Amino acid sequence: MMIIKSDSDIRLMRKAGAVAAGALQAAGEAICPGMSTKELDKIVENYIRSHGARPSFKGYGGFPASACISVNEVVIHGIPSDKIILKEGDIVSVDVGAYLGGFHGDTANTFPVGNVSPEAMQLIEVTRESLRRVEEILKGGIRLGDIGHCVESYVQQFGYSPVKDFVGHGVGRALHEDPNIPNYGRPGHGLRLPKGATVAIEPMINQGTDRVIVSNEDGWTVTTADGKLSAHYEHTFFIDDDRGYILTTV
Ligand code: MG
Repeated sequence: MMIIKSDSDIRLMRKAGAVAAGALQAAGEAICPGMSTKELDKIVENYIRSHGARPSFKGYGGFPASACISVNEVVIHGIPSDKIILKEGDIVSVDVGAYLGGFHGDTANTFPVGNVSPEAMQLIEVTRESLRRVEEILKGGIRLGDIGHCVESYVQQFGYSPVKDFVGHGVGRALHEDPNIPNYGRPGHGLRLPKGATVAIEPMINQGTDRVIVSNEDGWTVTTADGKLSAHYEHTFFIDDDRGYILTTV
């Protein structure tokens, strides 16, 4: 069941969203070659806690860290580790959730580590642009098929594939609420998002195949089946009558 938010809910969600966005920005500014993903996670956690919030992901389903940090062929749910050292030319996706005032904010970004190849930079830019294009069409009554088609049709022009096994979601008092929001779909089909819906829209875009593998070892890490790169952008939005508003902004 989709949960519609009140104006006061939205005010609170903006505050949670601002903390998540600030933590993500702090992570982005700190990223450099030689840093471990564990150090990066610490920066995210410190930012969130120093702003009176709590990391949404820590302990969620047993996840052991504050941020999901996913390098290169890792699509999502990378577990921060002192053994994973960022190096020049990597791309790193950082996914952050902050819980404040009874609500969650959920946001992600893929950052280049130093200078990256033109191919890697293009994947990052196309993924970011796919989310921006969704932002442009959001409004009360939009269908999930239109959102999915917007992402899929754009990224396919570059030979990229949206991941199908993992999707966006409603977000609010719970980190994951209904409905699921796929990054593929048929225009004019699917559920309509009403005014007052709050949703995390998160294109996960692979350079090659859309097929992904979940690690048997840790049960979390999702990688591309072909070992090619993947990028991830996410914002939490509030759906109003005539447009969507990003809630995960500083
Ligand atoms: Mg999410």
